[in-house]
Amino acid sequence: MIYTDTRDSSVKVDFRTAVMGGMNQATGGLYIPVEFPKLDKSLLTKDPAPSFRDIAFNMAKPYVEGEIPDEDLAAIIQDAYPFSPKVAPLDSISYVLELFHGPTCAFKDFGARFMARTMSYFNRNEATPLHILVATSGDTGSAVGSAFHNVPGLDVTILYPEGKVSQLQEKQLSTFTGNVRALKVKGTFDDCQKLVKTAFTDTELRSKLRLSSANSINIARLLPQSFYYMYSSLLVRNRSAMDNKIQDPAIIMIVPSGNFGNLTSGLIAKEMGAPIEGFVAATNSNRTIPDWIATGDYNARPSVETYANAMDVGAPSNYERIKAMYSLEEVRTSFASYWLDNKGIMDAIQACNGKTGYIIDPHGAIGWKAWEDIKTGAMENLINGIKNDYDKPGLTPNLPNWANKVTDKKAVGVILETASPAKFGSTVTEAIGKEPPIPARLEEVLRLPDRAIPMENDYNLFKEWLLNNL
Ligand SMILES: *Cc1c(COP(=O)(O)O)cnc(C)c1O
Repeated sequence: MIYTDTRDSSVKVDFRTAVMGGMNQATGGLYIPVEFPKLDKSLLTKDPAPSFRDIAFNMAKPYVEGEIPDEDLAAIIQDAYPFSPKVAPLDSISYVLELFHGPTCAFKDFGARFMARTMSYFNRNEATPLHILVATSGDTGSAVGSAFHNVPGLDVTILYPEGKVSQLQEKQLSTFTGNVRALKVKGTFDDCQKLVKTAFTDTELRSKLRLSSANSINIARLLPQSFYYMYSSLLVRNRSAMDNKIQDPAIIMIVPSGNFGNLTSGLIAKEMGAPIEGFVAATNSNRTIPDWIATGDYNARPSVETYANAMDVGAPSNYERIKAMYSLEEVRTSFASYWLDNKGIMDAIQACNGKTGYIIDPHGAIGWKAWEDIKTGAMENLINGIKNDYDKPGLTPNLPNWANKVTDKKAVGVILETASPAKFGSTVTEAIGKEPPIPARLEEVLRLPDRAIPMENDYNLFKEWLLNNL
């Protein structure tokens, strides 16, 4: 596969260059495949639907063709995914796609584990390890640390702001042994990022250590997230006739979004033939993308803190990929968009539990409420010209081309649940008055000894530590 870049379509690189480089330093653009090959028809029509790993292998294959042979790719998939996504029905036309069954209980495991194993593969003939530096404000760091843990040839140093992550997050970051370690920095997340960025531009340091990043913009994190869209849409299409007597339903994917990597992966799955009719871009008060869809003006802005804090992004980096793939008009016909403020998030967690018994996390709750509103009148209002003000929480005023499928009762919704509610236990407990059950693997991590290494917010001390310890 050839990869080009969102800022210069004359750029042509292979998968290895795109993965190991992360982004194109020369243009500042993001890598994107030049085409999205359709998945084989025999797999698309199979009933029962193929297994998650079968889908993963066959979807990944064209993107690594000529660079990773089939048997090595199969081994990468096998090792990356000892767990699967799960589809849980909420009512006859609503499903939750649970993406939290991986080791860190959030959907980032899907992307990070594939990326770690492809990087390790490409590093396999090198004499020295590749050192990954990551700054994190919480969730990304634990997914990356866990994904790279014990992966050959790779070594990870995570920087996080001391005292500024939750207790569970801190445990998830600081209890690794072996090739993964965490530095707790006396500073903010921005300070951590600055230390990492300075290291990447330090030619003396780079002459001694091979450094790389594990950013969410890496194409090797984006591609594997398309696997679960394909898997779940085939599964839902096949069971729909039984659940709700709708043959070939219009499947709407509702995606809680921050940086919009997850949603971009959904677009890739649709391009590859997944039976997906449309998307709902669901955000918290960081509503840069809903505002863009509503007004046509894209205004990146500083992020604000919300209960759905893994989506506190004011300048979503994958906007650039979405723009490279589609025009604004195409986005407006394929997407509905929806946003909720903090009060709306709390009410949604409570309402979801009250109506369905399901305990949903603050991110998924926005998606649940979006679909709930859409199917109980908000879309009908939109068709009748009754629009919600875009600067009020709710549905933005663009009319997607699948609106009539909802009112004609031909549509089903799949809500992506991006994290286990236990990861946001205090918010969920406040909303529903009881604690969400804690998965055993999270409970275990709480019992492990804390191994974080204290670090001053000082580049020279950081550099000295890297040179002495890596
Ligand atoms: C990262 C994250 C998101 C946002 O995903 P994007 O790809 O950045 O849009 C949503 N929910 C949770 C729990 C996350 O960790």
